[in-house]
Amino acid sequence: MFIKSKGTHIPEHKGHKELSTSAPVFEYLAPEYVYIPLVEANTPCEALVKVGDKVKVGQVVATKKGRFPINLHASVSGEVVSVNQKMWHCSGRLVPTIQIKNDFQETKIETKHNDVGSLTREEIIAIVKDAGIVGLGGASFPAYAKYETDCQIDYVILNAAECEPYLTADYTLLTHHLDAVLRGLKYIMRAADCNRGVIAIKANKKALIEKIKLAIAEEESLSLFLLKDVYPAGWEKYIVQRVTNRDYKGLPSEACAVVNNVGTAHAIARAVEENQPLVDKILTVTGEGIRHPQNVHVKIGTNMREVVQAIGGYASDLGEAYFVAGGPMTGKAVAFDTLIVNRALTSVVVMPKDIREINPECMGCGKCGEVCPVFLSPIVIKEALQDNEISSIAELRPELCMECGLCSYICPSRIELTDSVVRAKNKVLAAR
Ligand code: SF4
Ligand code: SF4
Repeated sequence: MFIKSKGTHIPEHKGHKELSTSAPVFEYLAPEYVYIPLVEANTPCEALVKVGDKVKVGQVVATKKGRFPINLHASVSGEVVSVNQKMWHCSGRLVPTIQIKNDFQETKIETKHNDVGSLTREEIIAIVKDAGIVGLGGASFPAYAKYETDCQIDYVILNAAECEPYLTADYTLLTHHLDAVLRGLKYIMRAADCNRGVIAIKANKKALIEKIKLAIAEEESLSLFLLKDVYPAGWEKYIVQRVTNRDYKGLPSEACAVVNNVGTAHAIARAVEENQPLVDKILTVTGEGIRHPQNVHVKIGTNMREVVQAIGGYASDLGEAYFVAGGPMTGKAVAFDTLIVNRALTSVVVMPKDIREINPECMGCGKCGEVCPVFLSPIVIKEALQDNEISSIAELRPELCMECGLCSYICPSRIELTDSVVRAKNKVLAAR
């Protein structure tokens, strides 16, 4: 099914991106402890170290088994002090972690620089896998799995839409590390055996677009695709349909496309050129509840409470607030700010509670149905869920929900529709 072309424009002043775009990136790369989560993409991971072990930066400390196995690495050098310390995770749950006490020596595992020009497709895929690179747009899906496909790939799409309000980490990476991101895109093209790379970016990023045009002027294999300034322009399916004019049911490879976000391409450039595993990242710490919103460069496993304190703490008049792990549309509110940075965390947004005051009376305005990119009627699904009639719920097709959060965002009564639709979706899927 092709999705609606119009999407929903979130005006600039409601996009809140200006809070963090102009501040320099803050480096917080020497925390006393890091906590490597033993969960990846909702799957438990097995610890490969024990208390007392000495570890180096980039050393494999845990592994996720199963269909798409991937390793997790130490982000600092030092000593393992616990393998079961529970910490808050961007899934909204407490998860076990490997706690490492930093010795502040930054001792790295031995790596060699690759002869980049001579690497084969298989070698690039193996490097990306060994470096533990997952989709950094929030999905956590192992990146190498997208390139191992048997499908012919006609398009590698760099998703630079960053369509959620408040988030500017990809914009920051493109502004400061454009060359590395473009090299990463070309390595992905080699890994996917594809000679067409498309940078999909919102048309309103005019200055950045000019910079990219200059950078790719001599690159026949690279082009730009301008997206409307709407939400959810960064949804994978939306982008693939717009760029390729093809539809798919399961994976973009069915439409002969591979999609990776900006952070992933940047991490791949570092992995291919320096054998650098994914041990740090840039994320956005923002919202009206943060005194100095900005992007921060942090080690995986850092405690966000320390980061917030290091950049100036919370706004002085902040009362009750939402601490959201991820963007405001698709992120999860977590109860405490002792959230650890995992590989999928894109941002932390702190919003005063009165911004999302809840008045759960439906006014019947119909906006939630108008904005839904997959043509659902969220309020009708919510009501059907209350009646708990599985056949009536199933008729409303909640399984199509892509959890974009738009219905909750747009609702003037601030009714939490997404939660209800997702619960209905899970109910229908479980009943199959
Ligand atoms: S969260 Fe689901 S139901 Fe709500 S607008 Fe997005 S796709 Fe539609
Ligand atoms: S947007 Fe909110 S108020 Fe409007 S119909 Fe949907 S649930 Fe009701």
